[in-house]
Amino acid sequence: MEKEIKVAPIKNGTVVDHIPAGRALDVFKILGIESPAKEEISTTMNARSKKMERKDLIMIENRELSADETDKIALIAPQATINIIENSEVIVKHRVELPKEIEGIIRCANSNCISNAEKEPIASKFITISNNPPTFRCDYCGWIIKNVVACI
Ligand SMILES: [Zn+2]
Repeated sequence: MEKEIKVAPIKNGTVVDHIPAGRALDVFKILGIESPAKEEISTTMNARSKKMERKDLIMIENRELSADETDKIALIAPQATINIIENSEVIVKHRVELPKEIEGIIRCANSNCISNAEKEPIASKFITISNNPPTFRCDYCGWIIKNVVACI
């Protein structure tokens, strides 16, 4: 894989580009895509990139990712770009945006945190304190999360 990989011509769907190398599977996980057989998915891993040393890229056919979904991708790949493809043409291209506050997606790693209480469970809430590397602080207990994938 020595060449810059061009966006493969899927007819309709979403291409997520500029994922840090090795994180494509984490992107699937955060999108809740458990069984790739359900959707038409292809992955290019460890491709050469002009912007980054190495990158991963995923293509999801016949599905347009929503803004909520692309925000989730930002939790692990803040440099990712989203390309929405219709009839083999890129109709929308944008970068993901890391939300300032994240509710209910990240599980606090502090087992004593009130957001982990079994009685009267409350939704977790995290504040983004750094974009690179993505780092989040629990709004309830102050716990710092760097490895989001372990906490979703
Ligand atoms: Zn907490």
